[in-house]
Amino acid sequence: MHEISLCESIIETVCKEATLERFCRVKSIRLEIGRLSCVNPEAMFFAFNAVAKDTIADGAVLFIDAIPAKAWCKHCDADVEIMQRYDACPHCEYYPLEIKQGDAMRIKDMEVE
Ligand SMILES: [Zn+2]
Repeated sequence: MHEISLCESIIETVCKEATLERFCRVKSIRLEIGRLSCVNPEAMFFAFNAVAKDTIADGAVLFIDAIPAKAWCKHCDADVEIMQRYDACPHCEYYPLEIKQGDAMRIKDMEVE
């Protein structure tokens, strides 16, 4: 379950931020997860609670925004929305497309005190 290691890196980032910004508790964290990143939100919530335990993010509420995946089609010379990594262009069936957005995960914002 790679969600555990993703959560570990989130907590690590949050702890570094806490040292820099001098906050001692995280109330909520909002993540953006690309549709192509193969992250299961259910597993993410579960892993987060386990990993955040006894850290400054213990009890923090996790929000997950799913980001649609976008790719560039050379044939249409336009950005198109895709559902899966190896999708062809929905307009002209051109393949392969160049993935532009939706294969990453990042912390969008967090509420701290
Ligand atoms: Zn196309």
